[in-house]
Amino acid sequence: MDKPNLKDMTLEEIEGFISDLGKEKYRAKQIMKWLYQSGTTSFDEMTNLSKDFRDGMNNIVRISTLEIVETQTSKDGTKKVLFKLEDGNFIESVLIPGANHWTLCISTQVGCMIGCRFCLTGMYGFKRNLLPSEITDQITMLRFNTPEGENVKNIVMMGMGEPLENYDNTLKAIRIMTTDCGLAISNRRITLSTCGIAPMIHRLGKDTCVNLAISLNTPDDETRNYLMPINKKYPLETLIKACREYPMPRRRRITFEYILIEGVNTSREDAERLARLLRGIRCKLNLIPYNEYPGSVFRTPAEVDIEAFRKILIKHNYIATIRASRGGDILAACGQLSGR
Ligand code: SF4
Repeated sequence: MDKPNLKDMTLEEIEGFISDLGKEKYRAKQIMKWLYQSGTTSFDEMTNLSKDFRDGMNNIVRISTLEIVETQTSKDGTKKVLFKLEDGNFIESVLIPGANHWTLCISTQVGCMIGCRFCLTGMYGFKRNLLPSEITDQITMLRFNTPEGENVKNIVMMGMGEPLENYDNTLKAIRIMTTDCGLAISNRRITLSTCGIAPMIHRLGKDTCVNLAISLNTPDDETRNYLMPINKKYPLETLIKACREYPMPRRRRITFEYILIEGVNTSREDAERLARLLRGIRCKLNLIPYNEYPGSVFRTPAEVDIEAFRKILIKHNYIATIRASRGGDILAACGQLSGR
């Protein structure tokens, strides 16, 4: 554990590392391909590197993996995977089936410190940030150890944790995901979801061009302060300004996620206010009916109210879709991950 982990390094860092050992820079690409495109976990398998080099690397760096502890399958086909980290903590990822591909929802922290009222992850508190290797290994492990893995096409950072509160490690993980000799995933297929850490949204836009999703959930500060305490620090005006200034690539839209909770944020006035709040932002709205679970304090709204809410947004020319929650029966739906 005391040796540096190769999987915590970007291509540039591996290049620097092996240059210091007097090796050619191009070897770094070969190493990354073994790690991410062959799923190799041992230097012995890196047969296009000399035996001396492999032995030398083995003595000074290590290659981490995660342990898949359990996979649960929902009746709708969604799979929740429980991973054990090297220090004994647990995290979860969710595989969501699509027509011909899978979307993988990954975690960026063990627990979460934000404490949104509708979220089980927040309820269990925060333990620590994930390392870049622990973020990308959720993808690498599933890619090489599950039949679904090779058909994972989209990555969403919407699992346990707030990615922008673990910015440096998340950014490094994104770099490894998007590097050609790394996981080689297009940034168009990666979405980062945030509860609204406004200053970091600016930074994210400068550093990457992944898709941005905002967990918004209400158009008024009072309700948002109640649902998502982070709003007291970054109120709606600040958050929406950061969204307006996000340097989005052409033809892309910010996704605003809106969990519909009966009696809390589903009125006609809420929909009208939401339409006014987002006016002029190139965006789409994901309306997510709240998932009840045993002991949950909130309720799922009636279908008729959900549809009425959507119709108001459509009338104002927004793209608004109702996202059927997946995996509710195995606590794999939005806001239900706990690593337990
Ligand atoms: S919704 Fe996201 S930011 Fe809020 S507590 Fe849950 S994991 Fe954290």
